[in-house]
Amino acid sequence: MYFHYYGQLLHQQNMMQDYVRTGTYYAAVMENRVDFVGRVVVDVGAGSGILSLFAAQAGARHVYAVEASEMAEYARKLIDGNPSLGERITVIKGKVEEVELREKADILISEPMGTLLVNERMLESYIIARDRFLVPNGKMFPTIGRIHMAPFSDEYLYMEIANKALFWQQQNYYGVNLAPLQSTAFQGYFSQPVVDAFDPRLLVAPAVSHVIDFTSTKEEDLYEIYIPLKFVSTVGTRVHGLACWFDVLFDGSTVQRWLTTGPGAPTTHWYQLRCVLAQPIYVMPGQEIVGRLHMVSHKAQSYTLHLTLSAKMWGPGAEQGGILQTSSGKLDLKEPYYRLSQPQAYPLPQDQQSNQLLQTQDIQIQAQDEEGSDLMQQTLQDSGAELHSL
Ligand code: SAH
Repeated sequence: MYFHYYGQLLHQQNMMQDYVRTGTYYAAVMENRVDFVGRVVVDVGAGSGILSLFAAQAGARHVYAVEASEMAEYARKLIDGNPSLGERITVIKGKVEEVELREKADILISEPMGTLLVNERMLESYIIARDRFLVPNGKMFPTIGRIHMAPFSDEYLYMEIANKALFWQQQNYYGVNLAPLQSTAFQGYFSQPVVDAFDPRLLVAPAVSHVIDFTSTKEEDLYEIYIPLKFVSTVGTRVHGLACWFDVLFDGSTVQRWLTTGPGAPTTHWYQLRCVLAQPIYVMPGQEIVGRLHMVSHKAQSYTLHLTLSAKMWGPGAEQGGILQTSSGKLDLKEPYYRLSQPQAYPLPQDQQSNQLLQTQDIQIQAQDEEGSDLMQQTLQDSGAELHSL
Protein backbone atom coordinates (compact mmCIF):
# COMPACT_ATOMS: atom_id res chain seq x y z
CA MET A 1 0.00 0.00 0.00
CA TYR A 2 2.74 2.42 1.06
CA PHE A 3 4.95 1.92 -1.98
CA HIS A 4 1.90 1.83 -4.25
CA TYR A 5 1.07 5.36 -3.10
CA TYR A 6 4.55 6.70 -3.85
CA GLY A 7 4.57 4.86 -7.19
CA GLN A 8 2.04 7.35 -8.50
CA LEU A 9 3.31 10.48 -10.20
CA LEU A 10 0.61 12.71 -8.73
CA HIS A 11 1.86 12.16 -5.18
CA GLN A 12 5.44 12.94 -6.18
CA GLN A 13 4.11 16.05 -7.94
CA ASN A 14 2.27 17.09 -4.78
CA MET A 15 5.57 17.04 -2.85
CA MET A 16 7.49 18.74 -5.66
CA GLN A 17 4.88 21.50 -5.77
CA ASP A 18 5.39 22.20 -2.09
CA TYR A 19 7.75 25.05 -2.92
CA VAL A 20 8.73 25.66 0.69
CA ARG A 21 9.89 22.06 0.90
CA THR A 22 11.56 21.67 -2.49
CA GLY A 23 12.92 25.23 -2.55
CA THR A 24 14.53 24.79 0.87
CA TYR A 25 16.17 21.52 -0.22
CA TYR A 26 17.44 23.22 -3.38
CA ALA A 27 18.83 26.18 -1.43
CA ALA A 28 20.42 23.94 1.21
CA VAL A 29 22.19 21.90 -1.49
CA MET A 30 23.29 24.83 -3.67
CA GLU A 31 24.52 26.96 -0.77
CA ASN A 32 26.60 24.04 0.43
CA ARG A 33 28.19 22.96 -2.85
CA VAL A 34 31.44 22.19 -0.99
CA ASP A 35 29.65 19.29 0.66
CA PHE A 36 28.72 17.81 -2.75
CA VAL A 37 31.53 18.67 -5.18
CA GLY A 38 33.41 15.49 -6.08
CA ARG A 39 31.49 13.47 -3.46
CA VAL A 40 29.50 10.24 -3.55
CA VAL A 41 25.87 10.81 -2.58
CA VAL A 42 23.06 8.40 -1.70
CA ASP A 43 19.50 9.67 -2.16
CA VAL A 44 17.45 7.67 0.35
CA GLY A 45 13.96 7.19 -1.11
CA ALA A 46 14.61 9.12 -4.30
CA GLY A 47 11.00 9.22 -5.56
CA SER A 48 11.05 11.21 -8.81
CA GLY A 49 14.82 11.61 -8.43
CA ILE A 50 14.59 15.34 -7.90
CA LEU A 51 17.05 15.50 -4.97
CA SER A 52 19.54 13.33 -6.88
CA LEU A 53 19.37 15.83 -9.74
CA PHE A 54 19.98 18.70 -7.27
CA ALA A 55 23.02 16.85 -5.85
CA ALA A 56 24.35 16.32 -9.39
CA GLN A 57 23.81 20.03 -10.13
CA ALA A 58 25.87 20.83 -7.05
CA GLY A 59 28.77 18.85 -8.51
CA ALA A 60 28.45 15.38 -6.96
CA ARG A 61 30.85 12.83 -8.44
CA HIS A 62 28.18 10.14 -8.33
CA VAL A 63 24.66 9.85 -6.92
CA TYR A 64 22.94 6.56 -6.07
CA ALA A 65 19.18 7.16 -6.20
CA VAL A 66 17.57 4.35 -4.18
CA GLU A 67 13.79 4.04 -4.53
CA ALA A 68 11.61 1.07 -3.58
CA SER A 69 8.39 1.94 -5.40
CA GLU A 70 7.54 1.76 -9.11
CA MET A 71 8.52 5.44 -9.18
CA ALA A 72 12.09 4.19 -9.75
CA GLU A 73 11.17 3.63 -13.43
CA TYR A 74 9.97 7.21 -13.80
CA ALA A 75 13.03 8.51 -11.98
CA ARG A 76 15.16 6.67 -14.55
CA LYS A 77 13.22 8.32 -17.35
CA LEU A 78 13.56 11.77 -15.82
CA ILE A 79 17.26 11.31 -15.18
CA ASP A 80 17.90 9.93 -18.70
CA GLY A 81 16.14 13.00 -20.05
CA ASN A 82 18.65 15.24 -18.28
CA PRO A 83 21.82 13.60 -19.61
CA SER A 84 24.38 16.16 -18.45
CA LEU A 85 23.37 15.40 -14.85
CA GLY A 86 22.08 11.89 -15.44
CA GLU A 87 25.46 10.51 -16.45
CA ARG A 88 26.47 10.88 -12.80
CA ILE A 89 23.31 9.29 -11.33
CA THR A 90 22.47 5.59 -10.95
CA VAL A 91 18.88 4.68 -10.09
CA ILE A 92 18.57 1.55 -7.97
CA LYS A 93 15.15 0.04 -7.48
CA GLY A 94 14.81 -1.53 -4.05
CA LYS A 95 14.66 -0.85 -0.33
CA VAL A 96 17.57 0.92 1.31
CA GLU A 97 17.47 -1.91 3.86
CA GLU A 98 18.25 -4.47 1.13
CA VAL A 99 20.08 -3.02 -1.88
CA GLU A 100 23.87 -3.24 -2.20
CA LEU A 101 26.02 -0.33 -3.37
CA ARG A 102 29.51 -0.66 -4.78
CA GLU A 103 30.92 2.23 -2.71
CA LYS A 104 30.29 4.18 0.49
CA ALA A 105 28.65 7.60 0.49
CA ASP A 106 30.20 10.84 1.72
CA ILE A 107 26.77 12.37 2.16
CA LEU A 108 23.16 11.16 2.37
CA ILE A 109 20.25 13.22 1.12
CA SER A 110 16.66 12.28 1.88
CA GLU A 111 13.19 13.56 2.55
CA PRO A 112 11.93 11.02 5.09
CA MET A 113 9.67 13.33 7.11
CA GLY A 114 5.99 12.56 7.66
CA THR A 115 3.31 14.33 9.63
CA LEU A 116 4.67 15.10 13.13
CA LEU A 117 8.10 14.26 11.64
CA VAL A 118 7.85 10.55 12.46
CA ASN A 119 4.71 9.40 10.64
CA GLU A 120 5.33 6.78 7.92
CA ARG A 121 8.34 5.56 9.96
CA MET A 122 10.72 6.36 7.13
CA LEU A 123 13.20 7.94 9.56
CA GLU A 124 14.08 4.38 10.54
CA SER A 125 15.05 3.65 6.91
CA TYR A 126 17.13 6.84 6.86
CA ILE A 127 19.01 5.64 9.97
CA ILE A 128 19.51 2.17 8.47
CA ALA A 129 20.83 3.76 5.26
CA ARG A 130 23.27 5.78 7.40
CA ASP A 131 24.60 2.64 9.08
CA ARG A 132 24.81 0.72 5.80
CA PHE A 133 26.17 3.31 3.38
CA LEU A 134 27.66 6.39 5.05
CA VAL A 135 31.38 6.80 5.71
CA PRO A 136 32.27 7.59 9.35
CA ASN A 137 31.53 11.26 10.04
CA GLY A 138 29.79 11.59 6.69
CA LYS A 139 27.16 14.27 6.29
CA MET A 140 23.39 13.88 6.39
CA PHE A 141 20.95 16.27 4.68
CA PRO A 142 18.84 16.78 6.78
CA THR A 143 21.04 16.44 9.88
CA ILE A 144 18.63 16.78 12.79
CA GLY A 145 14.88 17.07 13.27
CA ARG A 146 12.92 18.71 16.06
CA ILE A 147 9.33 18.18 17.15
CA HIS A 148 7.85 21.31 18.71
CA MET A 149 4.82 21.20 20.99
CA ALA A 150 2.67 23.79 22.74
CA PRO A 151 -0.77 23.78 24.37
CA PHE A 152 -3.49 25.59 22.39
CA SER A 153 -6.98 26.95 22.90
CA ASP A 154 -9.50 26.67 20.05
CA GLU A 155 -13.21 26.62 20.98
CA TYR A 156 -14.29 26.35 17.32
CA LEU A 157 -12.25 23.24 16.71
CA TYR A 158 -13.36 21.65 19.97
CA MET A 159 -17.05 22.29 19.24
CA GLU A 160 -16.68 21.03 15.69
CA ILE A 161 -15.34 17.69 16.89
CA ALA A 162 -17.71 17.33 19.82
CA ASN A 163 -20.69 18.20 17.61
CA LYS A 164 -19.98 15.35 15.22
CA ALA A 165 -20.57 12.86 18.00
CA LEU A 166 -23.90 14.50 18.85
CA PHE A 167 -25.48 12.61 15.95
CA TRP A 168 -25.34 9.54 18.18
CA GLN A 169 -27.23 11.28 20.95
CA GLN A 170 -30.53 10.86 19.06
CA GLN A 171 -32.99 8.59 20.82
CA ASN A 172 -35.41 8.33 17.97
CA TYR A 173 -33.56 7.93 14.72
CA TYR A 174 -36.20 6.25 12.52
CA GLY A 175 -37.43 4.70 15.75
CA VAL A 176 -33.95 3.60 16.84
CA ASN A 177 -32.08 4.84 19.93
CA LEU A 178 -28.53 5.67 18.82
CA ALA A 179 -27.30 6.67 22.28
CA PRO A 180 -25.60 3.33 23.10
CA LEU A 181 -22.89 4.28 20.60
CA GLN A 182 -22.51 7.89 21.66
CA SER A 183 -19.48 7.52 23.90
CA THR A 184 -17.78 5.27 21.32
CA ALA A 185 -18.37 7.91 18.64
CA PHE A 186 -17.10 10.65 20.95
CA GLN A 187 -13.90 8.71 21.65
CA GLY A 188 -13.50 7.94 17.96
CA TYR A 189 -13.60 11.54 16.86
CA PHE A 190 -11.15 12.64 19.54
CA SER A 191 -8.73 9.87 18.55
CA GLN A 192 -8.05 11.60 15.25
CA PRO A 193 -5.21 14.12 15.25
CA VAL A 194 -6.30 17.23 13.35
CA VAL A 195 -4.16 18.31 10.39
CA ASP A 196 -4.52 21.91 9.26
CA ALA A 197 -2.75 25.27 9.35
CA PHE A 198 -3.71 27.23 12.44
CA ASP A 199 -3.14 30.77 13.65
CA PRO A 200 -0.16 30.83 16.07
CA ARG A 201 -2.17 33.17 18.33
CA LEU A 202 -4.06 30.04 19.45
CA LEU A 203 -0.97 28.87 21.38
CA VAL A 204 -1.15 29.55 25.10
CA ALA A 205 2.49 28.96 26.08
CA PRO A 206 5.96 28.94 24.49
CA ALA A 207 6.69 25.62 22.77
CA VAL A 208 9.01 22.90 24.04
CA SER A 209 10.96 20.73 21.62
CA HIS A 210 12.29 17.23 21.25
CA VAL A 211 15.43 16.77 19.15
CA ILE A 212 16.16 13.74 17.00
CA ASP A 213 19.78 13.76 15.80
CA PHE A 214 19.79 11.70 12.60
CA THR A 215 23.58 11.29 12.78
CA SER A 216 23.50 9.48 16.13
CA THR A 217 19.97 8.18 16.81
CA LYS A 218 19.58 4.40 16.82
CA GLU A 219 16.76 2.76 14.91
CA GLU A 220 15.33 1.37 18.19
CA ASP A 221 15.18 4.87 19.66
CA LEU A 222 12.35 5.56 17.22
CA TYR A 223 10.17 2.60 18.25
CA GLU A 224 8.95 4.47 21.32
CA ILE A 225 9.39 8.18 21.94
CA TYR A 226 8.66 9.64 25.35
CA ILE A 227 8.48 13.42 25.65
CA PRO A 228 7.92 15.05 29.05
CA LEU A 229 5.97 18.30 28.77
CA LYS A 230 6.15 21.41 30.92
CA PHE A 231 4.67 24.80 30.05
CA VAL A 232 3.75 28.04 31.75
CA SER A 233 0.48 29.46 30.42
CA THR A 234 0.65 33.09 29.33
CA VAL A 235 -3.14 33.54 29.46
CA GLY A 236 -6.22 32.44 31.38
CA THR A 237 -8.17 30.13 29.09
CA ARG A 238 -9.45 26.65 28.29
CA VAL A 239 -6.69 24.45 26.90
CA HIS A 240 -8.03 22.06 24.26
CA GLY A 241 -4.94 20.03 23.59
CA LEU A 242 -1.43 19.97 22.20
CA ALA A 243 -0.33 21.60 18.94
CA CYS A 244 2.68 20.04 17.21
CA TRP A 245 4.93 20.82 14.27
CA PHE A 246 8.50 20.09 13.26
CA ASP A 247 11.56 21.45 11.54
CA VAL A 248 14.74 19.91 10.14
CA LEU A 249 18.25 21.33 9.86
CA PHE A 250 20.63 21.04 6.92
CA ASP A 251 23.91 21.46 8.72
CA GLY A 252 26.02 22.42 5.72
CA SER A 253 29.68 23.39 5.84
CA THR A 254 28.85 26.83 4.41
CA VAL A 255 25.28 27.57 5.49
CA GLN A 256 22.95 26.09 8.11
CA ARG A 257 19.43 26.08 6.76
CA TRP A 258 16.18 25.13 8.52
CA LEU A 259 13.07 23.78 6.84
CA THR A 260 10.20 24.64 9.16
CA THR A 261 6.54 23.60 9.17
CA GLY A 262 5.57 25.87 12.07
CA PRO A 263 2.33 27.85 12.41
CA GLY A 264 2.65 31.35 10.99
CA ALA A 265 5.45 30.26 8.64
CA PRO A 266 4.63 29.66 4.94
CA THR A 267 2.40 26.57 4.86
CA THR A 268 3.82 23.25 3.65
CA HIS A 269 2.04 20.06 2.61
CA TRP A 270 2.66 18.81 6.16
CA TYR A 271 0.59 21.64 7.70
CA GLN A 272 0.52 21.31 11.51
CA LEU A 273 -0.96 18.69 13.78
CA ARG A 274 -3.19 19.11 16.81
CA CYS A 275 -4.14 16.50 19.40
CA VAL A 276 -7.49 17.56 20.82
CA LEU A 277 -8.47 16.37 24.32
CA ALA A 278 -12.07 15.30 24.95
CA GLN A 279 -11.89 17.12 28.29
CA PRO A 280 -10.40 20.64 28.09
CA ILE A 281 -8.43 21.94 31.08
CA TYR A 282 -8.71 25.37 32.64
CA VAL A 283 -5.62 27.46 33.29
CA MET A 284 -4.79 30.90 34.70
CA PRO A 285 -1.97 33.20 33.52
CA GLY A 286 1.32 31.94 34.98
CA GLN A 287 -0.09 28.53 35.80
CA GLU A 288 2.04 25.50 35.01
CA ILE A 289 0.83 22.83 32.61
CA VAL A 290 2.68 19.53 32.83
CA GLY A 291 2.24 16.19 31.10
CA ARG A 292 3.71 13.87 28.52
CA LEU A 293 3.46 12.77 24.94
CA HIS A 294 4.22 9.09 24.58
CA MET A 295 4.49 7.89 20.99
CA VAL A 296 4.43 4.16 20.36
CA SER A 297 5.14 2.89 16.85
CA HIS A 298 2.85 0.31 15.28
CA LYS A 299 2.92 -2.02 12.29
CA ALA A 300 0.90 0.25 10.03
CA GLN A 301 3.96 2.51 9.64
CA SER A 302 2.71 5.01 12.16
CA TYR A 303 2.32 5.72 15.88
CA THR A 304 -0.24 5.59 18.67
CA LEU A 305 -0.06 8.84 20.63
CA HIS A 306 -0.76 8.88 24.36
CA LEU A 307 -1.19 12.45 25.55
CA THR A 308 -1.67 13.69 29.09
CA LEU A 309 -1.90 17.34 30.14
CA SER A 310 -2.40 18.49 33.74
CA ALA A 311 -2.95 21.88 35.27
CA LYS A 312 -0.71 22.24 38.32
CA MET A 313 -1.77 23.78 41.62
CA TRP A 314 -1.70 27.52 41.35
CA GLY A 315 -1.60 30.35 43.87
CA PRO A 316 -1.50 29.50 47.59
CA GLY A 317 -0.25 25.97 48.10
CA ALA A 318 1.38 25.83 44.65
CA GLU A 319 4.76 24.94 46.13
CA GLN A 320 3.31 21.58 47.18
CA GLY A 321 3.19 20.87 43.47
CA GLY A 322 -0.23 19.22 43.37
CA ILE A 323 -2.29 18.61 40.26
CA LEU A 324 -5.65 20.37 39.93
CA GLN A 325 -6.98 18.79 36.77
CA THR A 326 -5.77 16.11 34.33
CA SER A 327 -6.94 15.17 30.87
CA SER A 328 -5.70 12.29 28.71
CA GLY A 329 -6.26 11.05 25.20
CA LYS A 330 -5.17 8.22 22.92
CA LEU A 331 -4.82 9.11 19.24
CA ASP A 332 -3.81 7.25 16.11
CA LEU A 333 -1.39 9.20 13.92
CA LYS A 334 -2.36 6.89 11.05
CA GLU A 335 -5.93 8.24 10.97
CA PRO A 336 -5.71 12.02 10.94
CA TYR A 337 -8.62 14.34 10.26
CA TYR A 338 -7.62 16.55 7.33
CA ARG A 339 -9.50 19.73 8.16
CA LEU A 340 -8.31 21.63 5.11
CA SER A 341 -11.50 21.63 3.06
CA GLN A 342 -13.47 23.04 5.98
CA PRO A 343 -14.54 26.69 5.98
CA GLN A 344 -11.88 28.82 7.61
CA ALA A 345 -12.65 29.60 11.23
CA TYR A 346 -10.92 32.97 10.99
CA PRO A 347 -12.22 34.67 7.83
CA LEU A 348 -10.76 38.01 6.80
CA PRO A 349 -13.25 40.84 6.25
CA GLN A 350 -12.58 40.94 2.50
CA ASP A 351 -13.27 37.19 2.26
CA GLN A 352 -16.73 37.70 3.67
CA GLN A 353 -17.37 40.41 1.13
CA SER A 354 -16.32 38.29 -1.83
CA ASN A 355 -18.47 35.41 -0.55
CA GLN A 356 -21.51 37.67 -0.60
CA LEU A 357 -20.72 38.68 -4.16
CA LEU A 358 -20.55 35.09 -5.25
CA GLN A 359 -23.87 34.28 -3.62
CA THR A 360 -25.68 37.12 -5.40
CA GLN A 361 -24.26 35.92 -8.66
CA ASP A 362 -25.46 32.36 -8.05
CA ILE A 363 -29.02 33.46 -7.38
CA GLN A 364 -29.19 35.51 -10.55
CA ILE A 365 -27.98 32.66 -12.71
CA GLN A 366 -30.44 30.27 -11.14
CA ALA A 367 -33.40 32.63 -11.65
CA GLN A 368 -32.64 32.97 -15.34
CA ASP A 369 -31.86 29.34 -15.87
CA GLU A 370 -35.45 28.33 -16.53
CA GLU A 371 -35.83 30.86 -19.32
CA GLY A 372 -33.11 29.45 -21.52
CA SER A 373 -29.39 29.58 -22.08
CA ASP A 374 -29.25 32.84 -24.07
CA LEU A 375 -30.59 34.73 -21.12
CA MET A 376 -28.20 32.94 -18.81
CA GLN A 377 -25.31 34.03 -20.97
CA GLN A 378 -26.58 37.59 -20.75
CA THR A 379 -26.87 37.39 -16.98
CA LEU A 380 -23.34 36.11 -16.66
CA GLN A 381 -22.09 39.09 -18.62
CA ASP A 382 -24.20 41.44 -16.52
CA SER A 383 -23.00 40.02 -13.23
CA GLY A 384 -19.44 40.22 -14.53
CA ALA A 385 -19.94 43.91 -15.19
CA GLU A 386 -21.42 44.28 -11.75
CA LEU A 387 -18.34 42.67 -10.19
CA HIS A 388 -16.04 45.05 -12.03
CA SER A 389 -18.00 48.11 -11.05
CA LEU A 390 -17.78 47.13 -7.37
N1 SAH B 1 13.07 12.28 -2.49
C1 SAH B 1 11.82 12.56 -3.16
C2 SAH B 1 10.68 11.69 -2.63
C3 SAH B 1 10.39 11.83 -1.16
S1 SAH B 1 9.01 10.82 -0.61
C4 SAH B 1 11.52 14.03 -3.01
O1 SAH B 1 12.06 14.65 -2.13
O2 SAH B 1 10.70 14.55 -3.76
C5 SAH B 1 9.80 9.43 0.06
C6 SAH B 1 10.16 8.38 -0.97
O3 SAH B 1 10.93 7.39 -0.33
C7 SAH B 1 8.97 7.67 -1.59
O4 SAH B 1 9.07 7.72 -2.99
C8 SAH B 1 9.06 6.23 -1.06
O5 SAH B 1 8.62 5.27 -1.99
C9 SAH B 1 10.54 6.10 -0.77
N2 SAH B 1 10.88 5.14 0.30
C10 SAH B 1 10.32 5.06 1.53
N3 SAH B 1 10.90 4.10 2.27
C11 SAH B 1 11.86 3.55 1.48
C12 SAH B 1 12.81 2.49 1.68
N4 SAH B 1 12.83 1.84 2.84
N5 SAH B 1 13.64 2.19 0.66
C13 SAH B 1 13.57 2.87 -0.52
N6 SAH B 1 12.70 3.86 -0.77
C14 SAH B 1 11.86 4.21 0.22
